[in-house]
Amino acid sequence: MPLREISHPAIATDLRYAKPDNFTGRTIYDHAVAYLHVDAFAALVRAAELAQAQGLRLLVLDAYRPAAAQWRLWEALPDPRFVADPRIGSMHTRGVAVDLTLCDASGQPLDMGTAFDEMTEQSFHGAADIAPQAQRNRSVLLGLMTLAGWTHHPFEWWHYNLPDPTRYPPLSDGAEGAFLMD
Ligand SMILES: [Zn+2]
Repeated sequence: MPLREISHPAIATDLRYAKPDNFTGRTIYDHAVAYLHVDAFAALVRAAELAQAQGLRLLVLDAYRPAAAQWRLWEALPDPRFVADPRIGSMHTRGVAVDLTLCDASGQPLDMGTAFDEMTEQSFHGAADIAPQAQRNRSVLLGLMTLAGWTHHPFEWWHYNLPDPTRYPPLSDGAEGAFLMD
């Protein structure tokens, strides 16, 4: 079950859990490189190419997450609407989930109505109490990710995963070293 680095000219990365710039205020994992399962990487490249055709870029905020990192998130917010219970396992730990947003051609993130990881009902898909332009921006992201084969999460506009993610086993910690391919 190989992971690979997310490296593509139409995809930028800003891993929020590799630094304290996230809802916990703490560093959750220490790898500064974003990794995905090779199947998920292929689907992300399809989405990036669709975005590029609209003059947009993907900005990845989180991808593969080691199991120890999932425990740290759960301890910070033990609410299964927003954080997967680590005893069950996160789709991020399987390497088949990505948290992301869109940027314009200059690299400026688009307004999505809430911040990444804002754990409120305003982060739900279909939330009506956010600005119309932000609703349109979310719809663009939803459309191109869906076209590329991803499944959305109803409570988090930034989260997408491959269909049937339990087909992929959770990866053991250190997988980013053991299974890394280029
Ligand atoms: Zn996610």
